[in-house]
Order: sequence, then structure tokens, then C-alpha cells
Amino acid sequence: METQSMLKGGEFLIRPVEYQDIFIPEEFGEEARMIAESCQDFLEAEIFPNLDRIDQQEDGLMATLLKKAGDLGLLGLSIPEQYGGFEQPFLNVMRANEALGAGYSYSVAIMAHTGIGTLPILYYGNDDQKARYIPKLTSGELMAAYCLTEPGAGSDANSGRTRAVLSDDGKHYILNGQKMWITNGGFADVQTVFAKIDNDRVLSAFIVERDWEGVTMNPEEKKMGIKGSSTRQIFYNDVKVPVENLLGKRGEGFRIALNILHLGRIKLGATVVGGAKRTIMHSVQYANERKQFGKAIAEFGAIKHKLAQQVVLTYATESAIYRASKDIQDNMGRLLAEGRPAGKAAIEGVAEYAVECALLKVFGSEALDYVVDEAVQIYGGMGFSSETPVDRAYRDSRINRIFEGTNEINRLLAVDTLLKKGMKNEFSLFEKAREACETKDQPLAVEGIPYFEEKQAIIKNLKKAILMLIPGISEAYGRKLAEEEEVLMNLSDMLMQLYTLESTMLRVQKIEHMNSQEDILVYRDILDVLTHETAMTVYSSGYAAIASFADEEQQKGLIQALYQLVASKPVNPKEARRRIADKLIEENRYCF
Ligand SMILES: Cc1cc2nc3c(=O)[nH]c(=O)nc-3n(C[C@H](O)[C@H](O)[C@H](O)COP(=O)(O)OP(=O)(O)OC[C@H]3O[C@@H](n4cnc5c(N)ncnc54)[C@H](O)[C@@H]3O)c2cc1C
Repeated sequence: METQSMLKGGEFLIRPVEYQDIFIPEEFGEEARMIAESCQDFLEAEIFPNLDRIDQQEDGLMATLLKKAGDLGLLGLSIPEQYGGFEQPFLNVMRANEALGAGYSYSVAIMAHTGIGTLPILYYGNDDQKARYIPKLTSGELMAAYCLTEPGAGSDANSGRTRAVLSDDGKHYILNGQKMWITNGGFADVQTVFAKIDNDRVLSAFIVERDWEGVTMNPEEKKMGIKGSSTRQIFYNDVKVPVENLLGKRGEGFRIALNILHLGRIKLGATVVGGAKRTIMHSVQYANERKQFGKAIAEFGAIKHKLAQQVVLTYATESAIYRASKDIQDNMGRLLAEGRPAGKAAIEGVAEYAVECALLKVFGSEALDYVVDEAVQIYGGMGFSSETPVDRAYRDSRINRIFEGTNEINRLLAVDTLLKKGMKNEFSLFEKAREACETKDQPLAVEGIPYFEEKQAIIKNLKKAILMLIPGISEAYGRKLAEEEEVLMNLSDMLMQLYTLESTMLRVQKIEHMNSQEDILVYRDILDVLTHETAMTVYSSGYAAIASFADEEQQKGLIQALYQLVASKPVNPKEARRRIADKLIEENRYCF
């Protein structure tokens, strides 16, 4: 069922949302549950028993395990039936990604294959290209990679030097260049390679086969983590790419690359939830087993704090990811109904939510880093041992802040995209920002009202606190705003915290409406802790931004208003965290 009121991407900052308008994971149906179970069963049977062999990159093992996933249909979740898949709604695909996200290096390999590897061809390929490649990529007969990064072109991806020149007979593009950090590079048969034709200023995209003459590669990179994931440099020396293998139009490559990355980012947000839940399970089980000073370390307040915080961040990421995914799914459906071809509908459907995709990639990857870091701490000396599971989780998590666009680039992108949407009048961002400035000294009352009304009021105040900064920032920096990255980072930190808080609040409210029997108070504890933290972030990031852009006179008024806007009824975060931890400790597994 389509949610009531469709928010445009980024519009969450200016529009209130009701709990009826969002999707929460508790609403997943039987099909999604079965898919998630198949993924979990697959990890239990094929991946977890083989983690050491995978990390040692045993010859042919990763490719064999990907093929096994293909045999079970797990490579075809986004693929239409005509190409051998069983196309699932976007939300179900995300649920599968979450489940597979617990699979360490394997998760990276399967995500790269089914996501950035396969989707450029599925969404931008012509009928012939799709017919040639997609069925075999779906069955696992062929493996895929996405080749954008070069030694001199990382974050500045359009600056790549790989070149394609049309042959004299017009039948081939002759490809020359080098790609770096290519996931699945060691075994991918099919590569989407981004290169510039002649002296074009923007990239084009090509489908290249590994077996073609002139395609060579370096040995495996030696990495800090995800050691089982194949990562190679690939060289293209006078490779003859048939003209039929130009993907999309000439000069469309950069757009293809970026649009595929929006999808990669939101999917990464789901995979980190899977990884975090597994690591929390290990954390609590160890904390329950390990005894010091005559009792289980789970009984110590400092450990409870860590366990609870792991849960809060994971729960918040999960709430936000599925809320955004439903908006994306609805938008894809709407575009399809308007007559867009399926590939375009999928791409435009997600691109609308580029702001959310970028914010959630950052929030999720940093949440997972917290979870794995504190897992090592909970394990103490054993956390530093390669004999325990948290060692791998810790090393494998770090990459998430680097690939799919670094977290710095995603922070900048989120704010830049939001402001551009405002400038294009896609929604009334600047009007609301001016209003927020004018009424900044009139925060909504947040005391003496029912629980969820109070949370709604706090969130409205926090939105106003962020919005009121926009006119001052725009005025102070004008066209030079892009050079003021520190301030843009302040804004994105506030935005991501706000979006996850609002998503969590709406989820908890919906849970209470759906099921009054459930042990709901602990969800209020999660919400209270997150509310407290979001208010702190908005205050500290807002303060830093104001101190950067405003003159002395302006500063006084804004900081005073900020102080009032982040105020809320005091909660006791220590007691709230203890209750969250106690539930986790009692269940001895992630149970939220
Ligand atoms: C294990 C692994 C797997 C990967 N898989 C793939 C793959 O399959 N396909 C592929 O194409 N690529 C892949 N990558 C590449 C990855 O996407 C890049 O590493 C990433 O985009 C960053 O580029 P870079 O490493 O050149 O860092 P740089 O761009 O050199 O960045 C270095 C630092 O500077 C910061 N920085 C750069 N520009 C700015 C700016 N304008 N403002 C502020 N800070 C900035 C970055 O955030 C970062 O902190 C992979 C990388 C790794 C490590």
C-alpha cells in the first residue's frame, strides 16, 4: 500500500510527517521474512563456517560461493523474470541486503556483484546488452565489477584518464587506461568501465569482458579488512571494445556512475544494520559470559552504556533506512505508472532521494564503526585477538566510511543537493528558512503535553534550529559556500541526526498503535536517548556553524535562539540506557 503523503527527497526538513506516512520494519510481510530467512540460512550454511578460508582468498572459493547464491536465486532479487530473476519490491531487496550484511567480506562481494556490478547494465543497457549479460549475471555464471576509480581519480571521479577512441573502421572503441580498487576484480567476467571518449569532458560507460585481449590485472591488494573480498588494479591496453558495448549514450557515464552510487549508498545503509546486529549479538553474549570482580561484566554500568548505545544507533539506522526505502519504492512505482521504462523509473526513483541516501550512508557506516569499536572494548584483551569474531568485524567495518563515496564527500553532497533543490523551488526551503529566522525566538512548548506530541514539538524545534541557519550561511558565503566545508559538515551532521531521530520517533509511535501488548517502553527509552543526543548534536554543530559565519551581533541572537530550540524535558539517559541494556542482556541476542 502506498503511504499517504509522499515527501520529496530532502523535504523532511520542512514538512511534518505522521506515523501513518512511513513504513517500519515491523510491517514486513511473509515474503520479505522468507527472503531474509533464506539469506540468513545461506550465511549459516555456507559463509560462517568458511570465514577463515574466505579471508585467505582460497582459490576459486568466493566465485563458487557467489555461484551458490545464484543457484538459490539470491543474485536475482532485483532482476525481472524475463532475465531469470524474481524481481522483488525495493523494500524486500533492502531486507535481503540487511540479512546478507552480516556476511563480512562475502557481503561486500555479493553487494558489488548484484548492485554496482549488475545494475548499470540492467538500468542503462539496451535490449541486446541486457539479453547478453543479465541472465548469466543472475544465475552466477558470470560475475560483475564496477570500474570507476583510478590512481589519480578517486573522489574526483570525473577526472579519470582512461580513454576510448573509435577505431578507423568504426567497429570498436580502443580502450586504454588503468582502474584501481576494483571489488571482485580478480574474478569478475563483466566490467562496467568508465572512460572518456576522445577529449570529452565527461565520462562514458562501456561493458568490457575480462577475457578480451589487453585486459590485465595486478595481484590482490593487501588490505586492513574485508580480506576475503577481491580488490585489484585492472589495466586496459588497446582493448577492442565493440561499439555495441557502449553503455547508455556517449557522455552519459558520469550520470550512470553517480546514479548507481545513490543506490549503493542506501543499500550500504541496510548492510551495516545486518553487520551491527550480528556484532551486538557477539557483544552481549560475551558480556554475559565473561566474569570479573565476581560478576558478569554485563552487570557493570559502563558496559551497559556501550551495549545500549550499540542498540540505539542500530535501531535508529534501521528505522531511517526502511522509511527512506519505502519512499524510494513508492517513487519508483509512481514513475513506472506514469509510463517511464523500468530502468529509468528505478534510477529516477532513487535519485530523488539522493540527500537521504548520502546521509544514511554516513550515519549507518559511522554507527557500525561505533558498534564494532565498542565490541572490541567489551571483549577486552580478547577483542584484540584474531581468535574472536569481533576482530574481523572491527577490521571489516572501516571500509564503509571510504567506499561508495567517502563520508566527507557524502556529507558535502547531501547539503549541496538539498540547497540546490531549494534553489530550484522543488520545495519551499528558503521560504521556510526565512520563516524560521523570523520566529526563531518562539520555540514550541515541549512540556506538559502527551509523550508523542512532546517529541513532535522537539523535532519541529530542531528543524527550526537548522533552518534558521540557512539564510545567514547563504548571505555570509554566497557563491563561495562550497569552500566552507566545515560549515557544510556541521549542517549535514545535524540533518542526518534529525532524519534518523524523526524516523525512530515515527516508528516507535507506529509500534505503539500496532501492538499495545508489546514491551513498548524500551522503545521509548531508545527514542529518549536519541532525542537527547540529537539535541546535543544540533546544539554543538549549530553553535560551531553560527560562530563560523555570523558577526558578533548576529551570533548573540542566534545562539540564544538555538539554546531555546534544543531544550527539552530532561530525561535520564543513564537509566534509559540501563533498561535498554537489561533487555538485551536478558535476551542474550539483538531483540529490538
Ligand atoms: C576496498 C575498496 C574497494 C573499492 N571498490 C571499488 C570498486 O569496486 N569500484 C570503484 O570504482 N572504486 C572502488 N573503490 C574506490 C573508492 O570508491 C575510493 O577509494 C573512494 O571513492 C575515495 O577515493 P580515493 O581513495 O582516491 O581517496 P581521495 O579522493 O584521494 O580522498 C582522500 C581523502 O580526502 C578527502 N577528500 C577528497 N576530496 C575532498 C573534498 N572535495 N572535500 C573534502 N574532502 C575530500 C576524502 O574524503 C578522503 O578522506 C574501492 C576502495 C577500496 C579501498
